[in-house]
Amino acid sequence: MIRSVLIANRGEIACRIIRTARAMNIRTIAIATEADRSWLHWQQADEAVFLGEGPAAESYLCGPEIIRVALEHGADAIHPGYGFLSENAKFARDCAEAGLVFIGPPADAISAMGSKSEAKALMETAGVPVVPGYHGDRQQPQFLKQKAYEIGYPVLIKAVSGGGGRGMRIVNKAIEFDEQLASAQREALAAFGDDRVLIERYLDNPRHIEMQVFADSHGNVVHLFERDCSVQRRHQKVIEEAPAPGLSDTVRAAMGEAAIKAANAVGYQGAGTVEFIVDGANLEKPDSFFFMEMNTRLQVEHPVTEMVTGLDLVEWQLRIAGGEALPLAQDDLKLAGHAMEVRIYAEDPAHDFQPAMGKLWAVEFPAGPNVRVDSGVTAGSVVSPYYDSMLAKIIVHAPGRDAVIDRLRKALKEVQIAGVKTNVGFLGSILADGEFSAGGIETGYVDRRITELTGGGPGPALAALAVDQWLKRSDQHQARLPGPWQGGSGFEVGGLERTVGIDLLVDGQPADAEIRWKNGSAETIVGTEAAMPDEGRARIVWGGGIAYVSVDGRQLSVAFPSPLERVLGVSQGSGHVLTPMHGRIVSVRIGAGDTVSAGDILFTLEAMKMEHSIKAPVDGIISRILVSEGMQVDEGAEALMIDQAPAESPG
Ligand code: ADP
Ligand code: ADP
Ligand code: MG
Repeated sequence: MIRSVLIANRGEIACRIIRTARAMNIRTIAIATEADRSWLHWQQADEAVFLGEGPAAESYLCGPEIIRVALEHGADAIHPGYGFLSENAKFARDCAEAGLVFIGPPADAISAMGSKSEAKALMETAGVPVVPGYHGDRQQPQFLKQKAYEIGYPVLIKAVSGGGGRGMRIVNKAIEFDEQLASAQREALAAFGDDRVLIERYLDNPRHIEMQVFADSHGNVVHLFERDCSVQRRHQKVIEEAPAPGLSDTVRAAMGEAAIKAANAVGYQGAGTVEFIVDGANLEKPDSFFFMEMNTRLQVEHPVTEMVTGLDLVEWQLRIAGGEALPLAQDDLKLAGHAMEVRIYAEDPAHDFQPAMGKLWAVEFPAGPNVRVDSGVTAGSVVSPYYDSMLAKIIVHAPGRDAVIDRLRKALKEVQIAGVKTNVGFLGSILADGEFSAGGIETGYVDRRITELTGGGPGPALAALAVDQWLKRSDQHQARLPGPWQGGSGFEVGGLERTVGIDLLVDGQPADAEIRWKNGSAETIVGTEAAMPDEGRARIVWGGGIAYVSVDGRQLSVAFPSPLERVLGVSQGSGHVLTPMHGRIVSVRIGAGDTVSAGDILFTLEAMKMEHSIKAPVDGIISRILVSEGMQVDEGAEALMIDQAPAESPG
């Protein structure tokens, strides 16, 4: 029996594990970093130990140090959560050697499934269908390109050790192959320390449907039904649900059987997920699904299964790790109602889902029956550049899918997060979309509908509203304005008509604002729009002197010039390109003197284990470059300057 557990993870999943452990009277030990001081997980544990400043390598990924802390604090077991060390076979072995129970499968099962190519070979032998492709050892680019040709485009390049959608590239034509291969290998090496890849056919109209499995140390294996995770961005799930829309009982049973076969093939124990890619056009055929990979851990989306089965999967994990048999047999397991989860990320959907960082000045989540919020943050938490940018999950359970969508839409409207951009508005748009509510969308849905799903949000009129508030907040601000309002000028404000301009940064980009004074009252204009209250839906939260304006889960920030900046006349032209986040420059595509068009890729930056392409904001000529390949950059550093092309004169 497990009496105390160290949780080698952070954020919502650490909080989640602590909740069940506490209910089972198991003592909890959390680890945290200085960067996570403002997060909740370590505050909720019985004991907490701080390791390192921030980088995962010195903290959540530092196996030996974590084992040392576990022993020192008398832990019996280590729960790795997901990500980090959860699929690290060496760590699982080291735990066992130190006399600690690793809450997960045996190390050999992790190794067997850890390499996507070895896992595929193993599954072929076990009679589990796999996607046609090349998953051998040869890695020469020419050879892989030949294989891609034989498989037939489009193909998918995948990192053999990949996860979280990283190191994965779709290649539509042979001409793109070399560049995509190089990019996948670079990302794979940086994220997983292994640049090997496999090539497989990219399925048309694919759906991602996965099976939750559980096995104990007494030879029992069951599946806990499926989850449909087809709503993805960057090949990473954002909405998951159970049951999968349109899945027949026959195919469900066939998939469940295949998943159990997969688990048996590697001597599995504990919680695991067998992911299938499914040909969405032929869902009713039992041979339309293929093994993709097995995640040998608790999954982010496990609450969906908890809601439709009424079970606590973390409790099952703890019991099985303690040597107990599975609490239920296959026939005892029943699906009840429908459940759906949305993942809330700190990111900017309108800019390629770039992760966002910063302080959360306000955090509010919904509550109510059948609405579950799993979160690791609170007002004041700081989203640092070191980890995955997921903040929370909201999960809803109802008798049917329509009722779930309806309740989830309402729940999302109650979410208030100010300080960083989030995907809340984007999630709301999906839930409001007819194609999604019809059920059965494919994994390409988000990319295909990206414009509609990421549009909207606060515009200049709401930025102007923030300027209004700024003026009212403090009379002192008026002293910052130039012209007759500067101290000692002797002008009377009342009765005069006067317009002054102020330089704003709206979402970090320079914007012009005007304040027009007339008969003692002020009208504010940003760009060409006057301040306009947005039917009360807009909310403004102030933090660190910046206004965070949000409407329907979409936020923009309005920063005001400091007196010093005004004196120095710091004003940025729109051809000024700054680095959007802390990271490393991977490649620079342009040189000084090059002509670029708005939207052209200028350079790529690696941050949070992903590559981000920075695009030209305007047409023009590169007049200055300050970044170079391999360089580490800070957020907001000057990267390059584009001299805007003069407008063409007619005739
Ligand atoms: P799921 O299928 O449960 O969504 P993912 O593969 O997307 O699982 O990864 C689960 C979580 O773990 C994600 O938040 C991801 O960013 C994070 N993650 C994946 N790999 C790592 C890693 N090597 N180190 C840290 N976090 C990781
Ligand atoms: P990861 O380890 O990063 O989770 P997976 O192999 O599970 O990688 O794939 C992640 C996602 O990529 C899938 O959920 C699916 O959307 C897409 N995908 C993977 N393989 C294929 C394929 N052969 N055809 C089409 N889409 C695929
Ligand atoms: Mg996967």
